[in-house]
Amino acid sequence: MTTIEANLQQVRERIARSCQQAGRDAKGVTLLAVSKTFDANAVRQAQAAGQRVFGENYVQEGVEKIQLLRSEDPTNPLEWHCIGPLQSNKSRLVAEHFDWVQSVDRLKIAQRLSEQRPDGLPPLQVCLQVNVDGGANKSGVAPEELLALAQAVAPLPRIRLRGLMSVPEPVDGFEAQRAVFLRVKGLFDDLNARGFALDTLSLGMSDDLDAAVAAGSTMVRVGRAIFGSRPARATGD
Ligand SMILES: *Cc1c(COP(=O)(O)O)cnc(C)c1O
Repeated sequence: MTTIEANLQQVRERIARSCQQAGRDAKGVTLLAVSKTFDANAVRQAQAAGQRVFGENYVQEGVEKIQLLRSEDPTNPLEWHCIGPLQSNKSRLVAEHFDWVQSVDRLKIAQRLSEQRPDGLPPLQVCLQVNVDGGANKSGVAPEELLALAQAVAPLPRIRLRGLMSVPEPVDGFEAQRAVFLRVKGLFDDLNARGFALDTLSLGMSDDLDAAVAAGSTMVRVGRAIFGSRPARATGD
């Protein structure tokens, strides 16, 4: 068994355990494997171990992997999520190559993605990224501005609003982590009470996925616990 295969198995068991403790069905939590900084071979290994959904932070790097794997096999059923900060000048690449974008935090980007999504592809699946705890410099829409953004994004023709994503500042301890995630869950429930029909709450990473599952996450984004530790990377894309 490869390390990636063994790690994947452990992460799946961890999710199952967290679901059981929370009284939830493990089928209600999708595992997104975050392959940023790892090469296509790591993705192939994870796919061989049954993983189908992958996330990338850096647009150029992600598109190269997507194109490589699709050129090897055009029918490859992998699903690709863009989870990193989005710059306007990269939106076309994202709209043309990814299946999902989880990091939409302003209307202008959503409009560009909708305009640039090719007609031959299904609508781009979108989550709004919410900043529930950070300063003004952090990615994500402020909770006070979330409703207006959701109302403006939902009608755009070539994207489909699926839910919320958040990357809280790291805090120590299960209860503290869960408390932050529950704030996002509250916003999610509020939007659904207003009729949005969102089905995706993307919360939790390698260090806090258990608390995220306890708070109602439907998608955990896991990198290091599957692929190992990453080399430090300069910011930017
Ligand atoms: C890198 C990253 C992850 C995965 O983090 P790990 O700690 O490696 O599990 C998840 N979500 C986002 C937005 C990331 O940038």
